[in-house]
Amino acid sequence: MQTEIEKREIEDLFEDLLKSFTRPLSAENEQLIRKAFQFANAAHMGIRRKSGEPYIIHPIAVAKIVVSEIGLGTKSVLAAILHDVVEDTEYTLEDIHNMFGAKVSSLVDGLTKLSGTFDSNQATNFRKMLLTLSDDVRVILIKIADRLHNMRTLESMPYQKQLKITSETLYILAPLAHRLGLYAIKSELEDLSLKYKNPDVYQQIKIKLQSEEERINYLVFDFSKPIQEKLHEENFDFTISGRPKSIYSIWNKMQTKNVTFDEIYDLLAIRIVFKPKEGISEKRQSFDILSLITDIYTPKPDRIRDWITIPKANGYEALHVTVMGPQGQWVEVQIRTERMDEIAERGFAAHYRYKEEGASESELDKWLIKIRELLRNPESDALDFLDEFKLNLYSQEIVIFTPKGEMKMLPKGATVLDCAYDIHSELGNHCIGAKVNHILVPMSHVLKSGDQVEILTSDKQTPKPSWIESAITARAKSKIRDSFKQEQKKHIEEGRNQLNEQLEKLNVKPASNTLKKLINHYGLHSKEQLYAEIGMGLVSLDNLETTLLEKSVNKFVKFWKLSFVFGSDKKNETLVIDKKKPFLLNEERKANFQLASCCNPIPGDDVVGFASNEGQIMIHNKSCPEAVKLMSSHGDDIIEATWTKSKMLYYLTHIYIRGFDHQGIANKITNVISNEYGINMRSINLDAHDGIFEGNLYLYIQNTDLLETLITKLLNIKGVDTVSRKEI
Ligand code: MN
Repeated sequence: MQTEIEKREIEDLFEDLLKSFTRPLSAENEQLIRKAFQFANAAHMGIRRKSGEPYIIHPIAVAKIVVSEIGLGTKSVLAAILHDVVEDTEYTLEDIHNMFGAKVSSLVDGLTKLSGTFDSNQATNFRKMLLTLSDDVRVILIKIADRLHNMRTLESMPYQKQLKITSETLYILAPLAHRLGLYAIKSELEDLSLKYKNPDVYQQIKIKLQSEEERINYLVFDFSKPIQEKLHEENFDFTISGRPKSIYSIWNKMQTKNVTFDEIYDLLAIRIVFKPKEGISEKRQSFDILSLITDIYTPKPDRIRDWITIPKANGYEALHVTVMGPQGQWVEVQIRTERMDEIAERGFAAHYRYKEEGASESELDKWLIKIRELLRNPESDALDFLDEFKLNLYSQEIVIFTPKGEMKMLPKGATVLDCAYDIHSELGNHCIGAKVNHILVPMSHVLKSGDQVEILTSDKQTPKPSWIESAITARAKSKIRDSFKQEQKKHIEEGRNQLNEQLEKLNVKPASNTLKKLINHYGLHSKEQLYAEIGMGLVSLDNLETTLLEKSVNKFVKFWKLSFVFGSDKKNETLVIDKKKPFLLNEERKANFQLASCCNPIPGDDVVGFASNEGQIMIHNKSCPEAVKLMSSHGDDIIEATWTKSKMLYYLTHIYIRGFDHQGIANKITNVISNEYGINMRSINLDAHDGIFEGNLYLYIQNTDLLETLITKLLNIKGVDTVSRKEI
């Protein structure tokens, strides 16, 4: 049971929750919340979290986030306090219904269905839940609060569970928080994920950020001083602040853009939040401030973003401008009213509140309707759906116009085909192209904001498998897929026959290792997919012989060691693989492993193992997107794996190099690689154009230490500008 100290602590936390409501609670609502607390406290009595705390601390903390970080009201707080009661205690949904009414019990029901973590089955649950999203988005908002608290207290969880929870958070919950406009929560979720997944990286960036703080503060001060003076002169009531970048966003940029910490951190960002004066529109005043700023600093052309005239789909409104600062650096300035700021910080919840004050149907509502439509389609596979859904979560929007002048929002990168399917699925199915701004374009043409689009159709047209490549929206892709799903079986049959025929000619049996090799080669997932793609003509068998003879990455490895930890009993098992025998064929070995072809991990990389159905352990880089996806959908199969370094290993590694072209540069590069380091090369391609050279080096490297030394050395060659490791 609870100790006296614990009782008092719980009492304090609860009173603190009551105080965090910004608007005063009615006596009736306060009574209800007290009742829910007492009920939940009694129901969870005697149960403790992994950390040893009494369980009730968790629901109170979730309720606190719901009020003070998301800004929801009484019903959501009740649901948050009660969210684990049905799942974890003897009480039923009916009890909740009787005590707190239909709305609260339906919220708790939604949360119970979403409890725990997602596996492929949970993905189905998730899908069901999204179906009710447009009826009550609060279920997801409370779920996000629940996850945020679990992430904040992840410390006491076992490692495997930490990996699963963080992967899932990055995979689905952070994007959802982003789409719902909860920027602060989204950043915190990402930062916490990084902290548990890559603790070293996280600490490094954190320390660097702290050491930069003073310099940045000075830059912000220096930059804002003249703006502050101007705004005071014009009687604006405002606050101005430097916007800190999140650790995760810095790491993410470093990864995806191949830049250093310093290159990112030189980008300053400033935010101005003001209280609008009466009688003049918010938009007018925002532009007035913009104009005051560009009187002082020169704006970068094409870098004024007006999210006030057309807000983002998640409701975000602001004016953004990038200007040249006093020390020659680019500074992004965001201009928002207090209302816009609240929407930006609290997202959908705030938007919803303002909407009651008479705004029209928001873009978010339209988005929710589309999600519902997509989910109604019983054909699409739940995990596939999550994949594409997630892609659409992060997308930015463009605005296009129909010939009648009607406005349509589409995600950035959308094509003519996406647009056609967005208007009507029949229009999509018969699309042959379009006239964009009166010029004829193919269906794969990527649309730009402001385009006028007239879809052209033909009755004879039918969807083709290759159309998938011409579309980026989940909606279009799923419609295209549906339309030829029936033919899938036929394709598989055709593909299998074609492949077997070709293999027979080469005198090769269609054994599982042969198929596996082909599956890996084409980056596919299964036999069925391989057959189907052959049947549809997406995979050509012209080079079958060369493909089969091609030495896989693993063949060059002579010898290496990987240690695995199986299950929670932390029993260490070390496998020593002798590469003289291809291990894929070695039937006696009780546990085999394979290096994933998507990220090609080499010794020294931070890796994770993943048990597949075939009894194999697939080794991925921890940061590999495929691994993140696998961990979040099949988290129970995670196997901890670490490298033991060995001098005898060689791994094929791809290095990309770029710089200014000058006489003899190719010689210098090969000299460093083969003479100074004695590294074996598989191939080197250097290509020069307009004074710039680019090259792809395929080298056999022993480990990451050597790779790093080599990269530094290559960077020291005069003219070389960029050297980075790439996927093979
Ligand atoms: Mn919970």
